[in-house]
Amino acid sequence: MSLDADIIIIGGGLVGLTTALACAHKGASVIIFDAEAPNTHLNKDFDGRASAIAASSFQMYRHLGIADRLDGQTQPITDIMIADGDLQSGISPLTLHFDSEDAGDAPMGYMVENRHLRLALLNATMESEHIKLIAPARIQGFDQSTTKVDISLADGRSLSASILIAADGRNSYCRRHAGIGVETLNYNQKAIVTTIAHEYPHDGVAHELFLPSGPFAILPLPRNRSSIVWSDKSRAVDAAMALEDEAFLSELSRRFGDMYGELSLCAPKWAYPLSMQMADRYVDNRLALIGDAAHAIHPIAGQGLNMGLRDAAALADVVMNAFDTGQDLSNCLSEYELWRNADNRILAGATDIFNRLFSNSIAPIKHARRLGLGIIDKVRPAQSFFIKEAAGQLGDLPTLLRP
Ligand SMILES: Cc1cc2nc3c(=O)[nH]c(=O)nc-3n(C[C@H](O)[C@H](O)[C@H](O)COP(=O)(O)OP(=O)(O)OC[C@H]3O[C@@H](n4cnc5c(N)ncnc54)[C@H](O)[C@@H]3O)c2cc1C
Repeated sequence: MSLDADIIIIGGGLVGLTTALACAHKGASVIIFDAEAPNTHLNKDFDGRASAIAASSFQMYRHLGIADRLDGQTQPITDIMIADGDLQSGISPLTLHFDSEDAGDAPMGYMVENRHLRLALLNATMESEHIKLIAPARIQGFDQSTTKVDISLADGRSLSASILIAADGRNSYCRRHAGIGVETLNYNQKAIVTTIAHEYPHDGVAHELFLPSGPFAILPLPRNRSSIVWSDKSRAVDAAMALEDEAFLSELSRRFGDMYGELSLCAPKWAYPLSMQMADRYVDNRLALIGDAAHAIHPIAGQGLNMGLRDAAALADVVMNAFDTGQDLSNCLSEYELWRNADNRILAGATDIFNRLFSNSIAPIKHARRLGLGIIDKVRPAQSFFIKEAAGQLGDLPTLLRP
């Protein structure tokens, strides 16, 4: 039987592109489609987000040659400061501090702007002999048979592969077409994302300030800049988005304090509605869901993309295993589901509890969580556990995530 490729991927976002490279690294031929032309995603005005890439996910980018392509665009995270507070009485003195000394002097992760990461991934994809990128192209339907999957495009073309990977994001067409249900939990929160320049250096410190209406994160970027993720009630975000730049900066400064000196906005601001979304299952006949198509979570712990990157590395391992044992690729998909679904559900559940625990001003909960932060700050084994979790170094790691 002649197939156009071993794997077809729908969705050339950060997870889809990484999956293509990871599977090609293990010997698979891949065709990847995206609905948008590649240049659209690279535009500074398209996606202002920056991502905290956990140390283990970054390890995969070293193996795939992406880390070298990001030279000068990554900021190591050497310290994480966590505090609880409110705008009236300020920050609680019981704070939690993780530093790279506890992580064996290695950074806990790396901050990188999404557009730089996407450019590095796109260039690597286009240079790979094993990957064909087709964009813009919109999928119109697919047919899963016992021997292959056939996909048809809106422009009339049709292609076939052994398996189809759906990396087409939260509103996944492929998930709906396969009849896979999804549970959604709306937080009635939105996150404002922007980038600021500041007078004083951040020294690689990531700050997370828990305010009753939602977490406020200041994440270090190269060249005295920081990415802001300001989560708040949807109405408060709509009001803040409507402010002129000067008034917006003064609202930011109320949360920021004066630790970095003078601030200036150096990017537009975006608002993202926040919800948790979990697919009922990750696989169907010759189909696997990956990244936000399978699970999307609150950005409070900066783990959404990292979950997708772990999916990509796990899928690459099971594909390699199928090649090594001469099996049809579709036989490996249940192993992927078994490996990743429970792991992702645990992290999504913990993220949800974390957001509920910190996004409220109920007095006993407030006192207990402040005490909790203070206690963890003093207990080294607990600190070490959280550092390893944030760095993505716990659990059964796929080969690409290992040193
Ligand atoms: C405010 C905010 C901050 C965040 N910060 C972090 C962080 O610091 N660290 C972290 O790990 N995560 C973070 N996340 C989560 C992270 O951004 C997402 O989990 C990640 O971007 C998902 O990537 P994806 O490739 O799965 O999906 P997407 O980025 O949604 O990509 C889907 C792709 O599929 C394409 N597509 C869609 N439909 C079709 C179709 N029918 N045909 C062809 N192509 C199609 C789209 O064009 C797109 O390119 C954050 C999220 C938010 C909202």
